[in-house]
Amino acid sequence: MSAWESVIGLEVHAHLKTRTKMFCRCALEYGAHENSDTCPVCLAHPGALPVANRRAIEFTIKLGLALGCEIADRAIFARKNYFYPDLPKGYQISQYEAPLCGPGRLVVPVDGGEEVVRIARAHLEEDAAKTVHAGGATGRSVGATASLVDFNRGGTPLLEIVTEPDLRSADEALRFLRLLRQTIVELGISDAEMEKGTLRADVNVSVRERGEEGYRSRWEIKNMNSFTFIGRAIEAAVRQQVAAHESGEAVVQSTYDYEADTDVLTVHRSKEEADDYRYFPEPDLVPIEPPAELVERLRAELPEAPGTRIRRLEPLVGFALALELVSTGNERKAELLAAAGLDWREAANVAMNRGDFLPENARALAAILQANVTREALDGAFSASAQRPISPDDYLAQAAVGDESELAPVIDAVLAANPEQVETYRGGKEGVLGFFVGQVMKETQGKADPKVVNRLIRERLAP
Ligand SMILES: [Zn+2]
Repeated sequence: MSAWESVIGLEVHAHLKTRTKMFCRCALEYGAHENSDTCPVCLAHPGALPVANRRAIEFTIKLGLALGCEIADRAIFARKNYFYPDLPKGYQISQYEAPLCGPGRLVVPVDGGEEVVRIARAHLEEDAAKTVHAGGATGRSVGATASLVDFNRGGTPLLEIVTEPDLRSADEALRFLRLLRQTIVELGISDAEMEKGTLRADVNVSVRERGEEGYRSRWEIKNMNSFTFIGRAIEAAVRQQVAAHESGEAVVQSTYDYEADTDVLTVHRSKEEADDYRYFPEPDLVPIEPPAELVERLRAELPEAPGTRIRRLEPLVGFALALELVSTGNERKAELLAAAGLDWREAANVAMNRGDFLPENARALAAILQANVTREALDGAFSASAQRPISPDDYLAQAAVGDESELAPVIDAVLAANPEQVETYRGGKEGVLGFFVGQVMKETQGKADPKVVNRLIRERLAP
């Protein structure tokens, strides 16, 4: 076991799915023409005054409740002062000393246990505009001939969720992130899609010797927008920090960039102290004092948490499949098929591998699945079932060929044509069975019953 352990904390940002921006009435549209959704407030014209978006506040409270956070009686917006071309006001409106959501936690189910990740806080802020570096090969400022600003994104409501440094590996961090993402999506408050930039994460990484108390200097990796790269960046940071500690080099607390091509982290800029932002209460906005009735109404609207559902499905289909069903949003399909009489495990597998269908077709599909129809008939039934109500009788007639006397000559021909694969199988590589079944399915235009084919091939190749 390694003498070192990783210490990881996350700051997750999600764009809230409101109709309009955080402090003005400009529309939020993904992919709109550059600088078309702007107004004096989000362009910071002198004298323009912000008004807080009520729905964004409700969405944030909802997330806080889902994470068991304390909801503040009085939350205060604050100005975070810094200069950047994509921040025309010269400050971002955020929350500092009095966030909307206080400490909470997310319990991440794992096979045979659970990982508890403490949430330090969740608050509401506005996103900055987007700077586009043009003319360079990399899309970064280095090498660009011009930098352009698109103010459409400026003022988008942004939910920031900050964890305590409770995560101990890249895998744990990714499990947490996926479950948090699923929770956010199911609350209906954000699409939380990394590819579209509506979910981003800052990752804080440090290492310490096992058993050591306290924390060492950490590296901050900002604005990560891919699960894969987050995992790799954490592993690279741990590797580089352990090497530095072991060779007696100083590990300097700073912001780092992850270079995917070289799998190495390089210093971005030295970390400002929080005080440098000169936070102070935003004088143009009143404090948020959520009435108890509002909080209770939002609590009553919470759906069952994904973690709870994974635990509920686990005895039926096993942990791995339960996790997959919930985190891909396929569990409803499995539930419908199971309720229509299909074995739970088969229902889960079908749900994972087949497309959506109208709920009213669940019974017909279960009957067709149980009847051993041809693969073609099954494909037809599923594709039609997404569009309109289907009748099982239309498909049950296309029964798969299970008659041994009909299948035997085809199987014998396939085996005779592939002597090498037969040897491989006899040498212990049972995976070749799939190849033979595939060949028989091809020869029969998909009409053979795969279960019968499987059994007949095994019998013929038995020693
Ligand atoms: Zn605006």
